[in-house]
Amino acid sequence: MQDLEEQRQQMVSRQIRSRGVSDPAVLTAMSIVPRHRFVPAVYQTMAYEDRPLPIGHGQTISQPYIVARMSELLALKKGARVLEVGTGSGYQAAVLAETGAKVFSIEIIAALGAEAKKLLGALGYGNVQVKIGDGYQGWPEHAPFDGIIVTCAPTHIPEALQTQLAEGGHMVIPVGPEDRLQKLVLLRKIKGQIIQEKVFDVLFVPMKDNQGKSY
Ligand code: SAH
Repeated sequence: MQDLEEQRQQMVSRQIRSRGVSDPAVLTAMSIVPRHRFVPAVYQTMAYEDRPLPIGHGQTISQPYIVARMSELLALKKGARVLEVGTGSGYQAAVLAETGAKVFSIEIIAALGAEAKKLLGALGYGNVQVKIGDGYQGWPEHAPFDGIIVTCAPTHIPEALQTQLAEGGHMVIPVGPEDRLQKLVLLRKIKGQIIQEKVFDVLFVPMKDNQGKSY
């Protein structure tokens, strides 16, 4: 069997570059971040396959291509400040950090957040802060954000996140009903106005509140 390093480079060329992701910082980050460390041990040999994988607690780590595409849509400059809602395994946060961003990530399931925090620390991603909580309200203390990436799907775009987006900032968010395809939406704030466009259909886990009720 090929080693994981080799599999990762093939993932970048066959699943990501070939499908049109071209941002050099994103491609480099995807070729560096050890995705196999972010999945449960039983799935390590599948870490570089073209699919999402379970990470426990009914949650999933997104397909590599989706991580890359959403990262590219944020159009971040070096040193940009990014809010992530849905830390999960911490993989998406690591990819953004590897591109040079300062990442603020919120996870509602305490056990997942704690594990992600530990792993990100162990891998040296000091530019990621993880908080346990409900990301629906954003993270006002650290706003405004140049980029906001939401990796769980609400039925509508949370008002607080729009408010916390910086002028010229980009937000990517899956929007739609639970258990059906959602629209991945790209929002940009230009002269205080929000401009929206649909990117493509996606399937994310729902965004939930502390009572487990979907937003
Ligand atoms: N970005 C992750 C994938 C996350 S899956 C990765 O790279 O692995 C989506 C995550 O969103 C789940 O862990 C889920 O618990 C979390 N989530 C759901 N609703 C949330 C909310 N209101 N606030 C913060 N996180 C939430």
